[in-house]
Amino acid sequence: MATNITWHENLTHDERATLRKQRGVTVWLTGLSASGKSTIACALEQALLNRGLNAYRLDGDNVRFGLNKDLGFSEADRNENIRRISEVAKLFNDSCCVTLTSFISPYKKDRETARELHEKDNLPFVEVFVDVPIEVAEQRDPKGLYKKAREGIIKEFTGISAPYEAPENPEIHLKNYDASVEDAAAQIISYLEREKYI
Ligand code: ADP
Repeated sequence: MATNITWHENLTHDERATLRKQRGVTVWLTGLSASGKSTIACALEQALLNRGLNAYRLDGDNVRFGLNKDLGFSEADRNENIRRISEVAKLFNDSCCVTLTSFISPYKKDRETARELHEKDNLPFVEVFVDVPIEVAEQRDPKGLYKKAREGIIKEFTGISAPYEAPENPEIHLKNYDASVEDAAAQIISYLEREKYI
């Protein structure tokens, strides 16, 4: 724990949002590997940027190349992975960006931590459950990860050898096996409009 540090007061989020003509919001996608989080988040980012909005996607694999390259997949490392991402998402959100995160984030406690971190500073947090049955995810298996998990080559794989705790009250519940990627992105955009986040 660092000592001798003091918080430097800044513009408030409202002041910044007025100047930027855009509020911040974090759209937190959670779901099994291959449920479609990254694919949907990419489509969403594109759609928001096309409207002239500031949007940015924090991606599960990508942060592990940099910020979180020291972390593995044990429960403790997954907790820390999500904690750091939550802090980064919050900063992007505070900078008035529509911040999209696509992480499995299998533990309820971690997603609650992410939410609390945002809500204590009045920064909106929208949890999106990308819900596909494990059989569908396993059949898609674009990176061959389920196959490796079944063979025991990958340990602690969510849905196979590690738990996925489904959200009980997500703001948006996407049943993503019978909707197109575009429909999924459109559902999220409608919600953001309805809540006046965009
Ligand atoms: P995740 O980020 O959740 O691990 P990805 O987006 O990387 O998942 O992979 C999901 C795979 O499922 C992709 O190959 C994508 O093309 C495919 N897919 C098929 N139907 C859909 C859909 N309706 N929504 C999202 N992805 C879909």
